[in-house]
Amino acid sequence: MLRSMLEAFKNLFKPVRTIQYPAEDIVLPSGYRGLIEYGIDECIFCDKCEKVCPPGAILFYQHEGGEKEYRYNPWLCIYCGECVRACPKPEEALWQSETKQHSAVKEDGANEGWFVWEDACKKSRQRYVEAKKADKIQNKSEE
Ligand code: SF4
Ligand code: SF4
Repeated sequence: MLRSMLEAFKNLFKPVRTIQYPAEDIVLPSGYRGLIEYGIDECIFCDKCEKVCPPGAILFYQHEGGEKEYRYNPWLCIYCGECVRACPKPEEALWQSETKQHSAVKEDGANEGWFVWEDACKKSRQRYVEAKKADKIQNKSEE
């Protein structure tokens, strides 16, 4: 008891090592791995980024016409950089910026909406594959 009181007293005169996060901003070192940025014009829609992402923070929605829509969830992202490493066009289609997103101040329900979207993406893929199959069968029967 006495020892811990002594320790607490000694610490009163030491410099503060912590900050009031998230109210106080963190000073980031250069090269910090932050948010994922995306360039639609360079993307070849290979889906590699989506497949390697550990938490599933990148999703592609498949429209009926075949075009894909990219979505990224910064609150789910763990900034590991796996997607950039897997991308065949790094720095053009996908890159990691030095900006950050405070997970502690995320919007309410941000991930909840994301999981609804995740389900919609899966269904859109299924729909697309089934439509393609049906087209193939019809084309064959017309030959
Ligand atoms: S940095 Fe990691 S977690 Fe974030 S989107 Fe890329 S693969 Fe997913
Ligand atoms: S890995 Fe790169 S090229 Fe492939 S879908 Fe993702 S961003 Fe596009």
